Amino acid sequence: MAEADVDVLLLSVGADLPWLTGYEAMPLERLTMLVAPVGSRATLVVPRLEAPRVVERPEVFDLRPWGEAEDPVAIVASLARGARRVAVADRTWAVFLLALQSQLPGAQWVRASALTGPLRAVKDAAEIAALRAASAAADRVAAQLLGGEIPLLGRSERDVSQDIGRRLLAEGHQKINFAIVGSGPNSASPHHEPGSRTIRPGEAVVCDFGGTMDGYCSDVTRTVWTGTPGAHERKVYRLLQSAQEAGVAAARPGVACEQVDAAARSVIDAGGYGEGFVHRTGHGIGLEEHEEPYIVAGNASPLVPGHAFSVEPGIYLPGRFGVRIEDIVVVGEDEPVPLNRVSRELTVVEV
Ligand code: ZN
Ligand code: ZN
Ligand code: ZN
Repeated sequence: MAEADVDVLLLSVGADLPWLTGYEAMPLERLTMLVAPVGSRATLVVPRLEAPRVVERPEVFDLRPWGEAEDPVAIVASLARGARRVAVADRTWAVFLLALQSQLPGAQWVRASALTGPLRAVKDAAEIAALRAASAAADRVAAQLLGGEIPLLGRSERDVSQDIGRRLLAEGHQKINFAIVGSGPNSASPHHEPGSRTIRPGEAVVCDFGGTMDGYCSDVTRTVWTGTPGAHERKVYRLLQSAQEAGVAAARPGVACEQVDAAARSVIDAGGYGEGFVHRTGHGIGLEEHEEPYIVAGNASPLVPGHAFSVEPGIYLPGRFGVRIEDIVVVGEDEPVPLNRVSRELTVVEV
């Protein structure tokens, strides 16, 4: 904060607060806010009825429960009084930010993620262990998919999506975050919302799913075929496999984030399908599914050991089919450490 010339950090809903204090704010109309002035004690301002949820950490923060007749914005403003530059959590509700701005006139407002993003992006050993456990649990579901234990033929995408979600919970996740199932032409829509379409023989089915386990997220994609794919489909899938391998292999300390993107993208470009790769190669993962570092052209920041992110190139041919392969990778001391280990080989599931 001193380096960034920030006088006070204000954290509310979002992952910054639990990352620092272990407490997650309820996303409701009553304000929860950690007020952390540079160089002095932090205070957690919390609705009185939610105070019993807080695990007190007197060495980290004081607790200031507020009653129904009090104005929590005034309490935060008085704790932050005199601050010139205020860093506020990115996900803070606009209604609170607007009220705070009127009670702290003259303050300059910056986003908290400028401070917390780069710190949260570098995972310590306990965080990597948590990510590894979540990835292993998601891998067990992916293995069930590849092994034909999750029937596809004749079922709707929505049905398969719900099945995958239940399996994420059965394998140890506490929360399902998403389970994309895109079949046939829908596989060409990267963020397809699973719907009523019935999965038929001879199609590509993109399954991209993840959840939260002990606070940390999983995220894995495998594309399977409900019948032996034709020569063109096989060519596209093999190209994607090489691109994904090249992206993972590039994930080493000192390499710029955009170079990992370029490593995967150049393979697809050279194969003639560059126009079909319509998104960045990956995103950081941790307490949130998407966080820093972003693996995208224009992000020249260098990777360091402990960075954790997805490598998930895709090739999408609108109206026909699409394919994507995604693994979570941690940057080790000198080499990439993939957390997802389930097979990436072309797999036919005819059930
Ligand atoms: Zn996505
Ligand atoms: Zn994903
Ligand atoms: Zn992802």
